Amino acid sequence: MADRDGLIWFDGKMTPWRDANVHVLTHTLHYGMGVFEGVRAYQTPDGAAIFRLQEHTDRLFDSAHIMNMKLPFSKEELNEAQRQAVRENNLSSAYMRPMAFYGSEGMGLRANNLSVHVIVAAWEWGAYLGEESLQKGIKVRTSSYTRHHVNISMTRAKANGHYINSMLALNEALACGCDEALLLDPEGYVAEGSGENIFVVRDGVIYTPELTSCLNGITRNTIFHLAEHLGYKLVEKRITRDEVYIADEAFFTGTAAEVTPIRELDGRPIGTGQRGPITERLQSLYFDVVKGRNEEFKHWLTPVV
Ligand code: PMP
Repeated sequence: MADRDGLIWFDGKMTPWRDANVHVLTHTLHYGMGVFEGVRAYQTPDGAAIFRLQEHTDRLFDSAHIMNMKLPFSKEELNEAQRQAVRENNLSSAYMRPMAFYGSEGMGLRANNLSVHVIVAAWEWGAYLGEESLQKGIKVRTSSYTRHHVNISMTRAKANGHYINSMLALNEALACGCDEALLLDPEGYVAEGSGENIFVVRDGVIYTPELTSCLNGITRNTIFHLAEHLGYKLVEKRITRDEVYIADEAFFTGTAAEVTPIRELDGRPIGTGQRGPITERLQSLYFDVVKGRNEEFKHWLTPVV
């Protein structure tokens, strides 16, 4: 990733990719206290446009506020930084990574003289779980790792350190021949994937876990709007893993994962073991919306030029 051409927005300056470096004593590198976003820009008929830019920037600021980190830029400046990162790298579609982290002025948990730095990187990144997964769905395994308890790691924040738990779960699932992990909350109810929210469908109704141990996903929220648009009932409730086993359909959502069907959980096929019809309608509408092919949701797209 580091050795490539391009520019990274780094504390307000477009910096050559290879020069966008930090010191090994960077505080966030040691303790994981940082906040970030994952954002996508899509190619639309009017050029590259960022999907739900304001919501991602708002969540970055919420994450920083939760972690008591003062961001040295305004929301407007970071919106512009994201547009600039796509534009100046000549990308027609992109994955973007805004991140705020502490500098290297001090070490130890008590360090109180730390500067806050912000970067926005942008690069081309196709389907996170592979093109085929979007059609055929993925194999998922319930993790032996529990998702965060709200009073251990505050799950409204998208914080760097939270992803240790995600990586442990994902690596375990991959080692077992699956594509993704399903993490349960500390009480044993379904929470989310390592980097996705989960939905299940049963008898025509769509269900998703309440926001206790899972991230308030922007794609999750998008699905709420799209389900309403298509006339489906959507209910937030506690879900057990056996409810997923007997669901008619299940799918993951995320900026990176987009709308990815789940075809199997713990060796049990979900429904017919293929992408379900409601998943397919939502997925197809999702791609129309993000790619600017649907007039009704065009307000979610911010052109980069
Ligand atoms: N849960 C976790 C743990 C995630 O990392 C992500 C990706 N940001 C999501 C859910 C989905 O969130 P979003 O739809 O905002 O990308």
